[in-house]
Amino acid sequence: MYPDVQLFIDGTWRDAEDGRRIPVLNPATEEEIGTVAHASRADLDQALAATVRGFSTWSRTSAYERAKIMRKAADLLRARAAAIAPLLTQEQGKPLAEALMETNAAADVIDWFAEEARRAYGRVIPARATGIYQLVVKEPVGPVAAFTPWNFPINQVVRKLSAALAAGCSIIVKAPEETPASPAELIRAFVDAGVPAGVIALVYGTPAEISEYLIPHPAIRKVTFTGSTPVGKQLAALAGAHMKRVTMELGGHAPAIVFDDADVELAAAQLAGSKFRNAGQVCVSPTRFLVQEKVFDQFVDRFVAAARAVKVGNGLEGGTTMGPLANARRIPAMEALLADGRKQGAEIRTGGSRIGNKGYFFEPTVVTGVDRSMRMMNEEPFGPLAMMVPFSDFDEVVTEANRLSYGLASYAYTRSAKTANAIAASVETGMMTINHLGLALPEVPFGGVKDSGYGSEGGAEAIEAYLNPKFVSQAGL
Ligand code: NAD
Repeated sequence: MYPDVQLFIDGTWRDAEDGRRIPVLNPATEEEIGTVAHASRADLDQALAATVRGFSTWSRTSAYERAKIMRKAADLLRARAAAIAPLLTQEQGKPLAEALMETNAAADVIDWFAEEARRAYGRVIPARATGIYQLVVKEPVGPVAAFTPWNFPINQVVRKLSAALAAGCSIIVKAPEETPASPAELIRAFVDAGVPAGVIALVYGTPAEISEYLIPHPAIRKVTFTGSTPVGKQLAALAGAHMKRVTMELGGHAPAIVFDDADVELAAAQLAGSKFRNAGQVCVSPTRFLVQEKVFDQFVDRFVAAARAVKVGNGLEGGTTMGPLANARRIPAMEALLADGRKQGAEIRTGGSRIGNKGYFFEPTVVTGVDRSMRMMNEEPFGPLAMMVPFSDFDEVVTEANRLSYGLASYAYTRSAKTANAIAASVETGMMTINHLGLALPEVPFGGVKDSGYGSEGGAEAIEAYLNPKFVSQAGL
């Protein structure tokens, strides 16, 4: 059963002060399945007051104790994953297997950051005179405001939450209103594991109202956002005006480069799997398939066959490999990109339309004959849309890969070590995976360059975003 989701403020699950609620829809059926509490200004004020107290408690809790509680949260999440995954599928649409994977992967993220908590080392700098001790100690930045989107309702929260808690910060999470139940279950695992009152708050409401209130608020010392580039730029500007530390994980338009010496079958199989995961609503989804001329037809044929083999349906039904788009907005967004492409001569090799008129289902779509002037080649599709573009040589493909202002994920396939090294060095990107799919593990950096944002949400770098270095120089007496 899908719950009516509450706010979590100062150690208590509760409704909004004014009782306001927002309906939650199942994107596979368009039915209302529940509601979520909409925080008022009074709720935010209580969360802010509590987060200051929570910071005082948590920042003085030893890293060993923090890690112990976090590991317990990870165990609880794993134990509850089978019950949480159907909630995620009902509110977001992705197949149950993907929802289960996301929940279990979140537990791994928590474990990773729990260990990082115990390794937030400072350093000792050799002094210029005897008897002087120059120390760098790492201190938590303070209360964090985190804003997360609906495509990975658990995963987008867990990276921010775990890194903040590992560092000793308290955190107010503004989770997605469209997919509220699964992130609430993530928070519940931490609460049940023993995170003290005030350390975590969970709110939902009107995103702009909440961000405009929390980001400038003096209690908040750090802002972290995942979502679209235009919104990220607005929030980063606001944070800049108030001198807040910022991490921005924004959009992408990932080039997937297939050279003619690649294992084309492997490339097509892996990239098609990656393309249609979560119906393409993934910031690192491969979108511009840049394929060397000699193998272009072979690659496109294999990719089209893989797209046609995708089984679109309700994520709760066995055998479904792609669910609906997560919300009604994505359907006109896909249709507009395709209409623009068609007008300019794009050829739809498979798919191209909404499926039925109930539920936000859209066909896995492959397009050839695309031109760089088309909207789909410039705007993040964020849906099951793959554009195929032939290229002739290395320089041409690098120019195309770097043409856009995005720089998040990129993919390459080649049997030549020389080409692999050269392409890794040439693409302006935060992440590149070559001859396999290897992004987004807890222990590796995750983030972008250019308009895709800054900061890392994975690897040893991620906790640094929640720590301030403090320099202490001490003369021995
Ligand atoms: P959107 O740009 O309105 O919102 C994107 C996210 O930002 C949502 O979670 C939303 O709640 C939040 N948001 C919007 N305005 C905000 C504000 N003023 N303050 C705080 N949060 C705010 O668009 P959308 O229709 O929800 O999503 C579509 C686009 O967003 C996609 O095309 C994609 O580019 C981007 N997106 C990216 C990611 C990602 O993982 N990087 C995830 C979801 C959406």
